[in-house]
Amino acid sequence: MKQTPPPDQTTHPTLDQVVSCLSGYDPDALPVAQAQQIIRSFVLPLHAVEKVAIRSALDRVLAADIVSPINVPAHDNSAMDGFAFASAELAGDAPLSLRVVGTSYAGRAYDGPVGPGECVRIMTGAVMPEGCDTVVPQEFTSQSDTASVMLPPNVVRPGDNRRLAGEDLAAGQPALARGKILRPADLGLLASLGVAEVPVQRRLRVAFFSTGDELRSIGEPLDEGCVYDSNRYTLYGMLRRLGCDIIDMGVVADDPAALEAAFRSACENADAIITSGGVSVGAADYTKQMMAQLGDVTFWKIGMRPGRPMAFGKIHSAGHSAYLFGLPGNPVAVMVTFYFFAREALLHMMGAQVPPLPLFAVRSQGAIRKKPGRTEYQRGILSVAADGSREVRITGAQGSGILRSMSEANCMVVLGHEQGNVQAGDMVEVLPFEGLL
Ligand code: AMP
Ligand code: MG
Repeated sequence: MKQTPPPDQTTHPTLDQVVSCLSGYDPDALPVAQAQQIIRSFVLPLHAVEKVAIRSALDRVLAADIVSPINVPAHDNSAMDGFAFASAELAGDAPLSLRVVGTSYAGRAYDGPVGPGECVRIMTGAVMPEGCDTVVPQEFTSQSDTASVMLPPNVVRPGDNRRLAGEDLAAGQPALARGKILRPADLGLLASLGVAEVPVQRRLRVAFFSTGDELRSIGEPLDEGCVYDSNRYTLYGMLRRLGCDIIDMGVVADDPAALEAAFRSACENADAIITSGGVSVGAADYTKQMMAQLGDVTFWKIGMRPGRPMAFGKIHSAGHSAYLFGLPGNPVAVMVTFYFFAREALLHMMGAQVPPLPLFAVRSQGAIRKKPGRTEYQRGILSVAADGSREVRITGAQGSGILRSMSEANCMVVLGHEQGNVQAGDMVEVLPFEGLL
């Protein structure tokens, strides 16, 4: 019987098609930018939408444009506590005396007339009375009695301290664009529009496991020559931060049957698979063999440090398919390849529209050795120097197995492909780990 391919396979590019568009493609010496470009052209976004209440939409990817159903604010209102009047009253260089005819409170407007020579006491957020277009803040006025108020000349211009209806958002204007990852401000904005539910992309399901016969899980005895599996924990953290649903498949032994079963199960249950270990040259294992056997997977040596070996592609099992990121085994290399390759791809799969990572130029406190012809991701500590300017120093030993370098760091120092040695005082590019949450 002829097997029908899953729907996406009919339009999905193959890796060969993607790389055929690149000049000078060499999988054994692949610059970081080219690897990123290949991943970008290969990975397609998911199309699965669910509706959630706005509180549950935090950190989710908006699946449709939100158009404002109302004017925000709905009415012209005051930006200050003061007195509202018609700017036609403003009398050049002479002081102005106005008779107070009423009060407009936030939520309880003054709805009487305001005649010539009159004003209304008004609170912040209160609706502007009919015919008034200007508010003088209370602190600029003097009052000899409650019935009238004095303004010195030139303290306000026509239209001052008035918020216009729809100035935040006019009805029919796009408020939030599809692909936005919703942050606290966006939840507030949705609430201000009276929107109770929004369409979001369903969470991406990511399965991951570690490979290597030397790996032990926490709780197991640490036999001679063995290490605890730390990669599943850094991956857990990074994937959670990205808002993925995760399937932690543990450590998979270096055994063809176990690996095949793990890859098939991951493929049938997840949108993407992340493995660590077993993709470097000369590894005496079956990981690479199984990856190649189950799909369209390529093996790269990337011009980067740490990192270098990485597998990427898509595997298939029982009518399902999943993108595959075979990350290197070294703990720092796992994090760096995740951040600079997998992260963007996963966001793209989620349908998120995200700007490129923001790199900032700061002064390097010390010299850094660097070979041109590869991109280096050194772990750095960004601090404020005595003169108030920002500077960065690297966190000591930078070996790709030294996870402490990553834990101590608060930023990554990104030294570009062409860059050579850095002298103390030179500017370097950094990517801070944490922003405003
Ligand atoms: P590999 O890429 O499999 O050759 O592994 C490279 C190095 O990373 C070796 O020293 C491994 O012991 C180490 N390693 C691989 N996987 C893990 C893991 N899950 N946790 C900690 N170290 C690992
Ligand atoms: Mg290994």
